[in-house]
Order: sequence, then C-alpha cells, then structure tokens
Amino acid sequence: MSQTLQAIRGMNDILPAEAERWEAFEELVRDWLTAYGYRPIRMPLVEATPLFARAIGAVTDIVEKEMYSFTDSLNGEQLTLRPEGTASCVRAVLQHNLLYDGPKRLWYMGPMFRHERPQKGRYRQFHQFGIEALGLAGPDIDAEQIIMCARLWDDLGLNGDGNIKLEINSLGEAEERARHRADLVTYLERHTDQLDEEAKRRLHTNPLRILDTKNPALQALVEGAPKLIDYLGENSLKHFEGVQQLLKDAVIPYRINPRLVRGLDYYNLTVFEWVTEQLGAQGTVCAGGRYDGLVAQLGGKPAPACGFAMGIERLMALLEAKEGFIEPPAPDVYVVHQGEAAQRLAFRAAEMLRNTGCAVFTHMGGGSFKSQFKRADASGAQLAVIIGDDEAAANAVTLKPLRVDAEQQRVPLEDLADRVGDWLYGTDEEFDEE
Ligand code: ATP
Ligand code: MG
Repeated sequence: MSQTLQAIRGMNDILPAEAERWEAFEELVRDWLTAYGYRPIRMPLVEATPLFARAIGAVTDIVEKEMYSFTDSLNGEQLTLRPEGTASCVRAVLQHNLLYDGPKRLWYMGPMFRHERPQKGRYRQFHQFGIEALGLAGPDIDAEQIIMCARLWDDLGLNGDGNIKLEINSLGEAEERARHRADLVTYLERHTDQLDEEAKRRLHTNPLRILDTKNPALQALVEGAPKLIDYLGENSLKHFEGVQQLLKDAVIPYRINPRLVRGLDYYNLTVFEWVTEQLGAQGTVCAGGRYDGLVAQLGGKPAPACGFAMGIERLMALLEAKEGFIEPPAPDVYVVHQGEAAQRLAFRAAEMLRNTGCAVFTHMGGGSFKSQFKRADASGAQLAVIIGDDEAAANAVTLKPLRVDAEQQRVPLEDLADRVGDWLYGTDEEFDEE
C-alpha cells in the first residue's frame, strides 16, 4: 500500500540547486535572444496528433516510435505531447497569421516529450529552447543563427578549448534529394547483405537516415555511399557557399559532414549540428537548419524558414563541469529573533529592508540564538539583524556582520535601511569618490 511514489521513468525533477543554475542559464539566454531580435512565443504542450505526422514526417524515429500519443477519453480527440517545438510554432504562426506583415524571428523554451530509452543526456521529458526565423530565404539568416550559437558558447564560457564543434551540410532541394535517393537505394540494394535490421527497414521508407546510422559495422558501407552534396544544383550550392562565406568572415570553424541528414523530414538546404565529445554518445547539443517547405505543408502560404533547437539538459551537463557558472544565491540579511515582541519587530524590520530591495531571510521555527546564528551563517547572508527583548523594548535592532567588514552595532529601527545599505553597498561618500 505505502509504496513510494516516483516520477515517471525518464522524467526528472529539477531540484533547487539545479533549478537555480537553469534560471541563471535562462536569463543569459533571454538576453542573447533579445540581442538578435528574437521575440518569445509560448505554445501548448499538447497538440492534435496529425500535426506532428504531417510536419515531422510519418517515417521518422520521432513519429514512428517516440511520441506520447493518446486519446482524450473525455472527447475522443487524438492528442500528442509535443516531441519538439517547430511544428507547434509553425502551427501557431499560421493560426494567428503572424507573417502578414513580414518575416518573424521567434523563440520558445520548454519541455518536450519523446518515448526513448532513458540514459545520460537522453530523457523522456527533456527541455529545449528553440528559435525559428520565418519569411527569410537567404543564406544570411542561416549564417546568423549559427554565428548566434557561437556567441552563446562564448557567453557561457564553453568555447575555450574548442569544446563544441560545428558540422554543416546541405540537403539541397526535393528534386536533388530524389535523384540522390534513387542512386543511394540502388547502392544500398547492392549491399543488402551488409545492412542491419534498422537499415533494411529504412531502405524504402527513409534511406537518407541510414547515412546517419550509429552502427559501427555500417560505417564503411555508408562512407562509400553516394553523397547528397554531389547532387546539388547551382542554386543549392550558391546558398551553401553563401552560408560558408559568412561563417568564414565571422571566423567560425566548421566541418562539412556529408552524412549529416537530421532526423526530421522537413529540412532542406542548410542543416547544422553543434557537437561535443564530452557527453559520450549524446553529443549533439544543438541542431537545426532550413525548412522552406513546412509552412506550405501545414497549409500556409509558402514561406521560407530556418531554425534550431538546443537540448538544455545536455548544455547544463556541459556547464556542470564549469566551476562558478553561478554564485549560489544567498540572502543579503538574515533576521534572528527571540520572544513574541521581537518576532513582530522582526517582521517589520524584514519588510522595511525588502522595501529597499534587500533579499531578507527571516528565521522561523524558534531555537536558541546560537542555533539561529548557525543557520544565519550557513545561509551565506552578508549580515544578521538580531532582535531580542532589549531591542524590542527599544524599537531597535542589532546589526552583526557575517561577511561584511564592520563592527556590530545597535541601530534604531528608522535608521535600519540606511545602515544596512551602507554595510552592503558602502557609504554615500565612498560612492561620491568613485
Ligand atoms: P539525437 O540524435 O540525439 O536523438 P535528435 O536529432 O533526435 O537528437 P532534435 O530533434 O534535433 O534531436 O532535437 C534537438 C536537440 O534536442 C538535440 O540536439 C538534443 O540536444 C536535444 N534532445 C533531443 N532528444 C533528446 C532527449 N530525448 N533527451 C534530451 N535531449 C534531447
Ligand atoms: Mg532522437
């Protein structure tokens, strides 16, 4: 009966110390997105199932075997927990006609759901932030999105030792992929004996995905396969070169990986991944590219588009290794008090300090002054406000330095905010000197 309740396998609680790191990360990310003109959009976590089949492709890993789909027992609707953000974002853009007055740059962040085998860096509920630029056709936006990522790695302090490497490829246009596909299937058919089960299954549904196989036994075969890049026409090549020129100008090293195909069907032209070797098999921290056909495919007036998504858990795992990414948050002031009158004064004092912008932790749960001081010290607060019977009677408090350089002193309540300000930020005279 009293079996412990557990979170669903592959779905994690993010506990306070970690959640604080996430928040610091999110704050930095918001500033960075704003610097590139992206505006937030928030979509529901649940969408009608057909959206994903139509957008992502019926024979992709995600749609075939990773989606949390169910029937709403209350009304019989077919629903799916979103496995990624692009489909929902484009759906929202079309539903609200956001492209009516020109291109849009949008970003979102939140949980995604995929029924995969949980392992380090791979979860069933994971988090992404993603950006989508809609209505822009040139290679400039592709390049800017990649350059943007490079800046984020710098901002996060992750770039120092070439930690995260950029791979790019071009998937060309549909006709080019079709010609390549025909040759690829012929090539693979000549070697069916060497294919694994997965590749055999993919051979006539999504052969491009075979190139992306992680099976070491297939590497040589895949290495010798026809390369999509050799099938690109003039326009596709020009676009690809345009992206590369801007990357070179920005001094961003990259590697062309002809086998980079991405797992979702909606991509064309530029695709890219940022990959690290520090996370084992789950090394892709950011992936994206162009998807010019998706808007029309979902029923909109054709509009080019380009975007990427980052896996936040994987980025946080990289940041974990970095000391001092965030300061553990501490209150400015810890209020210790004993006695009923003191408690009431403690509440007043704490609110007065919060009025001036201080973070204040008021002790609760009683205990001796000694044990309260232990807590105060452990909290990391800069100073303690002490209120006992004497202080309460005098409508005053005692200030005790915990980490600031000052002498303990008794202060009338009305001077408290000023004095704490002096202790925390220095006196006015010192400010004037600066
Ligand atoms: P992978 O090849 O690792 O399965 P993917 O191609 O399925 O990745 P995308 O759909 O492009 O991934 O998602 C973009 C990013 O989201 C990935 O690069 C990764 O950082 C993150 N991501 C994808 N699936 C998961 C997951 N199950 N758990 C944690 N992060 C994930
Ligand atoms: Mg996947």
